[in-house]
Amino acid sequence: MRLSILRSVAVTDLSSRFRLDGRKALVTGASRGLGPIICEVLAAAGADIVAVARNEADLQPVCKIAAHHERKCLQLTADLAQAESVTHVARQALAEWGAIDVLVNNAGVSFPRSLIDQSVEEWDLIQAVNLRAPWLLARELAPAMIAQKRGKIINISSQTSSVALIDHGAYAASKNGLNGLTKVMTAEWAIHNIQANAICPTIVWTPMGARVWSEGDKLKPFLARMPAGRVATPEEIADVVLFLATQASDMVNGQELFVDGGYTAL
Ligand code: NAP
Repeated sequence: MRLSILRSVAVTDLSSRFRLDGRKALVTGASRGLGPIICEVLAAAGADIVAVARNEADLQPVCKIAAHHERKCLQLTADLAQAESVTHVARQALAEWGAIDVLVNNAGVSFPRSLIDQSVEEWDLIQAVNLRAPWLLARELAPAMIAQKRGKIINISSQTSSVALIDHGAYAASKNGLNGLTKVMTAEWAIHNIQANAICPTIVWTPMGARVWSEGDKLKPFLARMPAGRVATPEEIADVVLFLATQASDMVNGQELFVDGGYTAL
């Protein structure tokens, strides 16, 4: 009897556990690809959005979408390859809106090249944007999360962190690093009710995905061993971001969540 009462309360409360009303989410890479869809899904769930990319004009469409969902949207520019620019944008967000509840480290770069041909400059740029910037943003934003005893950090990693992909050495190193960083965030901050998780998507048809995979027949062998038989849509990644941003995932911490149509299951 008691158990059934508890269950029905839990079910009644279901929709609120997937809502983000009153929460503030900072999303990097908000100008194109996955970022705008992540912003839209979070805004639709009730979050106000801090949208970050290099050019303010590129962020206007995302803020229009947030406005459509009656959410506030702050457009902030930063070059995430520059450490001081990363720190500055995090401090701007805190100064404007106070504690950020959800940090989505989504911005990423890849310059597909063999291990022999990759330049040191490209290697360093990939590590700076994909790995150092998520750490720097979290380093700036975590103290306020700790103070309010609540926070979500979602790092967009890659299937490539688990499955070797030729011409992606620097990229794979950055995403493996990001997975490791995610676990240490959990180890250090879980006690403060902060959850940090990595999402590892398969190919997603964004400007980055199309640039890397649309040459000739490159996609064919990949799809041949893909259980789902297709690549992912941005919405399929954004929905997982939503889950990890909400109370529904409060006991999920330090995980690498592969959103890969079963690719790494084989
Ligand atoms: P995308 O279409 O190339 O978009 C990249 C985003 O990152 C843009 O908003 C871009 O903003 C931002 N960005 C890049 N360099 C930046 C810098 N130096 N400073 C600030 N912002 C910068 O990429 P995507 O496909 O949406 O990828 C999003 C995330 O998913 C990345 O972390 C990527 O590694 C990961 N991922 C993608 C795939 C895929 O197949 N697409 C698969 C697995 C994982 P600007 O307007 O400033 O250029």
